[in-house]
Amino acid sequence: MISYHVCDSCSVVLANADDSGIDPDDFDTVIATIETMGLVAHAGSYDHGGYWSCDVCDWDQIGEAQVFESIG
Ligand SMILES: [Zn+2]
Repeated sequence: MISYHVCDSCSVVLANADDSGIDPDDFDTVIATIETMGLVAHAGSYDHGGYWSCDVCDWDQIGEAQVFESIG
């Protein structure tokens, strides 16, 4: 099983398949990354206590990550 730590805006895309909030500059990267992740399920949140980078958009983040885990 693989865990992904994802920022809030990317978690909306993953959870709702809603790509309207993706920055146009990142759109292709985000969609391609999500496609390689395959099926994932929301598994909660994780507080990094500092900076971390989103596994989908690769932008630096601070605060809580949304955790998604691969299925099957
Ligand atoms: Zn992100």
